[in-house]
Amino acid sequence: MHFFNIDQEVMELEEQIRLLVNLQKTDLSIDKLEGTINDIPKKIEEWGREFKKKEADLETMKQGLETLTRDLRSKERKLISTNEDLKRYGEKIYKVKTQKEMVALDHEIDLTRKEKDRLENRIIELMEETENLSLEIEKRERELNAEKERLAMREKEYQEKLSKNKKELDLLLTEKNGIVSKVRKDLLALYEKLRKNKNNLAIVPIKNEACQGCFMTIPPQVINEVKMNEKLIRCENCVRILYWEKE
Ligand SMILES: [Zn+2]
Repeated sequence: MHFFNIDQEVMELEEQIRLLVNLQKTDLSIDKLEGTINDIPKKIEEWGREFKKKEADLETMKQGLETLTRDLRSKERKLISTNEDLKRYGEKIYKVKTQKEMVALDHEIDLTRKEKDRLENRIIELMEETENLSLEIEKRERELNAEKERLAMREKEYQEKLSKNKKELDLLLTEKNGIVSKVRKDLLALYEKLRKNKNNLAIVPIKNEACQGCFMTIPPQVINEVKMNEKLIRCENCVRILYWEKE
């Protein structure tokens, strides 16, 4: 009867270890899924922020265009009044009586012509600048509109992904509860404690004679004990639960 009991204990421990391995697999999937679920709203928010920044840049460009246009209109008005001045001086020339007056008028005409040239050159420059900036703004507006559509599509895609992930998470949590209900209380407590303190890995296989948690070599005697499943064996170095994967 003694052997029967040992066999039964071995079977029980084997089953418990199998449950813990499954539990950990489920927990790792849950962790990963929860990570994705948390990341999605952050991603969507980040896209929104980037888009708003581009919109603000465009708004700045539009304000720049307004300033340029105002400058252009004011130079055009100045040019008109400068031309009127020149016209007036042209009429005045016939009414000048003294040489002194003539010299003064010549000087005035000279200055006004220079001002007219300066204004005309500046107006041409401003026209080019406003033209270029208008084109650039139109281009950016088109790009931004296209991006807005893309963004809305991507957001919809991610929202769908999010609800799919949440459903998947529900399934995993149900699965986890099913496993947990079968795990021995003391083993479950140990598992939870190790998972918390050991980077989410409480139970690890032995591969190439090494613990797959900390990669320290496991002595052959201990490997044999792990294979026998008569008692729970933990890594001497990282204290994780060890198990043997049957091929
Ligand atoms: Zn270890």
